[in-house]
Amino acid sequence: MLGGMQDFELRVMRLLDHAAREHGPREIVTRWADGSETRTDWAGIARDARKLAQALERLGLKPGDRVATLAMNHSRHLVAWYGAIGMGGVIHTINPRLFEDQLAFIANHAEDQVLLYDRAFAPVVEKMKPHWTTIRHYICFDDGAFEDLIGAETGDYTWVEGDEREPCMLCYTSGTTGNPKGVLYTHRSTVIHAITELQPAEFDLSTQSVAMPIVPMFHAVGWGLPYAAAAVGLKFVFSAINDPAVLCELMNREKVTHSAGVPTVWFAMFQHMDATGAAPEHLKIVTIGGSAAPRAMIERLMKMGVRVNHAWGMTETSPIGTMGAPSPDWDDLSFEAQVDQVSKQGKVPFGVELRTVDDDGAVLPRDSASSGRLQVRGPWVIKQYYGEEQLAVDPDNWFDTGDVAVLHPDGTMQITDRAKDVIKSGGEWISSVELENAAVGCAGVAEAAAIGVFHPKWDERPILLVVRKPDSGVTPEEIAAHLERHVAKWWLPDEIHFVESLPHTATGKLLKTAIRAQYKDFKLA
Ligand code: ADP
Repeated sequence: MLGGMQDFELRVMRLLDHAAREHGPREIVTRWADGSETRTDWAGIARDARKLAQALERLGLKPGDRVATLAMNHSRHLVAWYGAIGMGGVIHTINPRLFEDQLAFIANHAEDQVLLYDRAFAPVVEKMKPHWTTIRHYICFDDGAFEDLIGAETGDYTWVEGDEREPCMLCYTSGTTGNPKGVLYTHRSTVIHAITELQPAEFDLSTQSVAMPIVPMFHAVGWGLPYAAAAVGLKFVFSAINDPAVLCELMNREKVTHSAGVPTVWFAMFQHMDATGAAPEHLKIVTIGGSAAPRAMIERLMKMGVRVNHAWGMTETSPIGTMGAPSPDWDDLSFEAQVDQVSKQGKVPFGVELRTVDDDGAVLPRDSASSGRLQVRGPWVIKQYYGEEQLAVDPDNWFDTGDVAVLHPDGTMQITDRAKDVIKSGGEWISSVELENAAVGCAGVAEAAAIGVFHPKWDERPILLVVRKPDSGVTPEEIAAHLERHVAKWWLPDEIHFVESLPHTATGKLLKTAIRAQYKDFKLA
């Protein structure tokens, strides 16, 4: 027997329809790369998305076709997402900071038909054109071409309907490990994920929120904010450049309450604050993710009266997996204990399930001690990579994240490392992440990378590569003394070396594969 309620296909365009209908005048502000500013609203985004959908059809696109973007955060990028999806297409956000062979691979693998791009990336586009075999139309967002394209349409358009399991978006993992792989989100997964993000224990969003995503819209789908925002019709403030002075000024002028970005963004903001005395004054919640939020960063933001959400997730999880938000006993905890709590990666929202397993696949207890491979499943978790035949999950839908974690009895998850980055010394695991986090807590250290190098007795021993802050004279002995206060003695790196810089992935994470390759024949003194 079936129940008596209506089917309501969870289609992405319903989010935009809702925003336009119920929160039409709520503003979307953009600060462009050239310093100019524009203002539109949810009604305007919906109007332009209809025009773009019409224009894309006129260019010959069919439902299912991929429309790529190479762009920063701005209102036209938002229009592109909804316009492409509205005509039944799949929006494919490409990370402009990828290396050339990855850019070629991704667009060709996705068989993108159209590329919408920022003028700032025109040199990349020109360079890549000969390598991109499927793109038929190139449209620049900010040289008048985009406005001309949609300006020629009436906007009299009805969204393409379909099954909620149809695809709406494609995003490739940035390839910290191996070739980029495509994650093809469905309308259904996207809508459920968007609604989940609104919850108080997640981003805590409402119509009153003024959100500035600093996480780029091409990185793990901008942590889902462009969809969640429409579900409540919040005010969006975009900046197409990530200069902390610009971000801080915009945050204060537009009274931004919610922001989200990787740790590097907040480091840059702190430097700006220290240099000028300015500070974002209306921020209530800052979400940090993409890599572990350093303790010192959490502490500083909390001292500013900001709630810090520590998010863990990956392209394969849409991306929200867990969120470190205040626990029920929060008010009874000391400040230190609160910081401790947020330094962990937090708990799952309803829908996501987590477990850790050992090397033989046996499920480990949630005992704060057993460290194992983190597995995840849920309605917005990947099942199969785009274009691949085999499933990405086991028969019970568990997806192996490649992260190593411990689970605490209350369900809190704590990432200890990436499986490939763990340093195995004498059969025991040393967390490279913990060593790095401890090292950046030492005065004078700007960045640090810990890797394992060959050792005849222990198999592997850690060495630490350190980039010093400008003008810092910190010594290896001082760093070692600092580390000794934070990690077990046998974890201490055998050697500490200073380097000018460290290689990063396109999303700003340490590129451990390159660092390991560089030190593969390293001999300990
Ligand atoms: P890629 O896997 O290509 O780097 P993703 O952006 O999907 O691209 O990165 C997901 C990975 O980032 C996770 O598997 C995890 O290793 C790391 N990560 C994300 N958030 C956190 C966090 N809060 N703490 C520690 N690691 C994190």
